[in-house]
Amino acid sequence: MAHVESEALVLRHVRQGDTSHVVTLFAREGGKIAILAKGNRKPGSRFGAGLDLFNLTHIRYRARPNRDLMYLDTCELRRSFGGLAVDVFGYASAGACAELVDRLVPEGAASEQIFDLFLEVLTILLETAPLAAGEELRAVALPIAFQLKLMDVLGVAPELTGCVVCGDTELGAATSLSAHRGGLLCPRCRAAEGGRRLGAETVAFLRASHFGELAQIMTVPYPPPRGLIVEARAALDALLEFHHHGRPAAFRSRKFLDELWK
Ligand SMILES: [Zn+2]
Repeated sequence: MAHVESEALVLRHVRQGDTSHVVTLFAREGGKIAILAKGNRKPGSRFGAGLDLFNLTHIRYRARPNRDLMYLDTCELRRSFGGLAVDVFGYASAGACAELVDRLVPEGAASEQIFDLFLEVLTILLETAPLAAGEELRAVALPIAFQLKLMDVLGVAPELTGCVVCGDTELGAATSLSAHRGGLLCPRCRAAEGGRRLGAETVAFLRASHFGELAQIMTVPYPPPRGLIVEARAALDALLEFHHHGRPAAFRSRKFLDELWK
């Protein structure tokens, strides 16, 4: 079997037998892949820090006949994100973003854009870790902005510039987000369609996240308020739930992040 080489970011580990891991990575070429890393749980494993969570690594792997899992031959650490561990919020935020990539990106969807976006969010978190006291909600808001950017790349982001039904850009204060229409509604269409109510601040946050730089979450004068975070996230989750035919968007890593601030 031919070998494949790529740069990749480590999303997740699952134990396999006594000494190995199945590692899910997002490769620059090839997208999401699950790979058998034999002996990775042994002390002094030949893969070293190359397979530690969130790290950027150069992998060389191959498909195995009649097996689903790829087989990892070698990996070489290119950039460590181990520094994220100094800040529990930053680390949990990175975990929430990794889970979004793992859960939202379909198998086989190769996208350099997604790879770059994930690398960007990890870099932002690493450069701002540890967050000063009182700034922690930035780390909670960042995965929401990341989720919106990711949905945009996947072609499922909501319409945020104007009313998704009639195109009216005068949305007033009584805006809502309709999951089945996939965007904001003006007051008139909202009366007919319903949808989840969104405050003006939340709409501004979603627009800034969608159209602005990801890093601005960490540099705007104040971290977003809690109510806004809850509202923005619920709106995006309703969209995901609609896209996944009613299956609720339950994220394990995000639950951990929420235990830190809620
Ligand atoms: Zn309308």
